[in-house]
Amino acid sequence: MTRRLALAAVVILVAIAAIRRWPASDEVTMIPSADQNVLLITIDTLRGDALASYGGRAATPNLDRLAAEGIRYTFAHAHAVVTLPSHSSIMTGRYPFEHGVRDNAGFRLDDKAITLAELAKQNGLATGAFVGAFPLDRQFGLAQGFDEYDDVGGREVAQGDFAFSERRAETVVAAARQWIGIQPGQWFTWVHVFDPHSSYAPPAPFDSQYASDPYAGEVAYVDHALGALLETARSSPRKTLVIVTSDHGEGLGEHGEPTHGTFAYETTLRVPLIVAQVGGGSTAVKSGRVSDASVRHIDIVPTIAKLLQWTADTSLPGRSLLGDEGAAPVTSYFEAMTPMIARGWAPLTGVISGRDKYIDLPVEELYDLAADPKETQNLVAKDPERTRNLVAELRRFGAPLPGDAQAESAEVRERLQSLGYVSGSAPRKAVYTAADDPKNLVDVERWMMEGIDLYRRGRMSDAADAYRKVITRRPDMRLAYLRLGFVHWEAGAPAEAIAALRHGLAAIGPNVELETRLGTYLAETGRTAEAIPMLERTTTAQPRNSEALNALGIAYARAGQAPRALAAFSQALEANPRDVYAHENVGTVHLQQNDFAAARAAFLRALENEPRSSRAHAGLGVIARQQGRVDDAINHWRTAVQIDPKNFDALYNLASELATAGRAAEARPFLMHFVQTAPRAFYGAEIQRFRQFLAGGR
Ligand SMILES: [Zn+2]
Repeated sequence: MTRRLALAAVVILVAIAAIRRWPASDEVTMIPSADQNVLLITIDTLRGDALASYGGRAATPNLDRLAAEGIRYTFAHAHAVVTLPSHSSIMTGRYPFEHGVRDNAGFRLDDKAITLAELAKQNGLATGAFVGAFPLDRQFGLAQGFDEYDDVGGREVAQGDFAFSERRAETVVAAARQWIGIQPGQWFTWVHVFDPHSSYAPPAPFDSQYASDPYAGEVAYVDHALGALLETARSSPRKTLVIVTSDHGEGLGEHGEPTHGTFAYETTLRVPLIVAQVGGGSTAVKSGRVSDASVRHIDIVPTIAKLLQWTADTSLPGRSLLGDEGAAPVTSYFEAMTPMIARGWAPLTGVISGRDKYIDLPVEELYDLAADPKETQNLVAKDPERTRNLVAELRRFGAPLPGDAQAESAEVRERLQSLGYVSGSAPRKAVYTAADDPKNLVDVERWMMEGIDLYRRGRMSDAADAYRKVITRRPDMRLAYLRLGFVHWEAGAPAEAIAALRHGLAAIGPNVELETRLGTYLAETGRTAEAIPMLERTTTAQPRNSEALNALGIAYARAGQAPRALAAFSQALEANPRDVYAHENVGTVHLQQNDFAAARAAFLRALENEPRSSRAHAGLGVIARQQGRVDDAINHWRTAVQIDPKNFDALYNLASELATAGRAAEARPFLMHFVQTAPRAFYGAEIQRFRQFLAGGR
């Protein structure tokens, strides 16, 4: 009796295993076909557990429906925890140390990389990308292979992560749908939405519905926005392969990490992954499937290639999720290099093998993700053998660190060293100790965040104090000097800004980023004799560095060397033809030369790329005034000030013009605003003049 029961149990178990392995006929399977569209959706900063189908708090009916029609992977991982490196892995099917993009700032995907868009194009698909934020601007190399690359454009003022240019998911989706609507044939579309990235401010009604959890509100909003896009795919006459994932998650305070980029815990490393086929007139009702297999971002390229029947590069480290999934266990490499590159902290690398996760830092970590998914029990001391095995697996990747000889070409390295720089990205320490471990630096991280918050609330001297505290604790932290300098600069204290950067260079040694910023401030304050040699060196080291090229151009212009200035700006525009800042600068130089036609053309090009260019409006105002079109000039200046209340040149011109035209009542608020907000260091005489006017003097 007992034996028979046991036997029956075994039979049932085998049957269950069989169902899991070979789906029944009404269960979803992916159908390979060269004739299908591909829709890749990346949702920035979406935690692996944020969608409702993954147990999240946000209502996400559109993506839940997609998951119910396709395959939802519960154990999917990214290889990096910041936007550009992670998207580079999704797009190339390669680990960060292979494609070379190790951080957002200072990196660009090499043109030699073969991307999904290039594969799609080779195979005859029309290719369109619609991205939601500046970190994926075309200048960073992901545009290769796309017929259409619709990005936010515009200018990212170098302000060290204080703000990103971004646009709402609905705007991105509308542009993508419009493009899809005019495609006569097969297409590959990539849609990137940025909303769940901090700061969390969902639009109505999601703001009130999720008042206590605005991050979930952003997630719900994104799902709402994507509904229309998924509908477009469903109603397409051709079948569409849809892949949804995120680039990384969000700490939301767990492990002491408010956002992402410092650690690589599951909060930020694990990502959602949904694969489904929709549309093409298919009416068959299939039920979706949930897979617990270990899957990775590098598997996305081989999966699409297999389903579209493209010939894929056999040297790719990933594997197709179809057919092979659940076969031999895979190991996934990951890293978090921002702390090393921007802060001089210890580099973080690691592997996930099966359900074991090893994090290589001065204080090593080992977690059993099956038993301890929240990573609360570090098993390194308890289980040295398991640790050794994972260390060996990590070593097998042979991943070079940024700044290693392998990470930079010999040519680049030689050029940098001949100019006195240790490395283009980060000077690497010989030894990192527990004091360099990000786990032991969470309070430094918190002060950095506080600095941003205080800056945003206008408390400049408190913000500066926060960064000084960081520098006292970590004198080698480049980012702290950059931010301290920025806060001083914005507070109208250029001498202190310059001193902060000089202090940084003394502490850290020659560094492209610090010198570029210092050169910028020196140029802006007219100290061109100091600025020019410094910026000539940084632009030789990094000939595509637009911040450095623009700064050099400004320095030349201030030194009265207009042709050299224009050459520097055109070098910036060669690297990025839509560099709004460079267009504005070209316009300004032509304006100084009284070449109004050329100036106007440059300002209009700036506005083409960024309709909200305050400097372009200010420049067009000056041209109008010079040509006697006073009302036109006033309108341009008014627009310039509306866009950027800190455009003090435009504000001065506007107030001054209205006042001298006898329009005192109109002029008054602008005069007051100028007197109250313009930095004395730059506008002392003008403030004095307005004070007298307001006092009834003239
Ligand atoms: Zn991101």
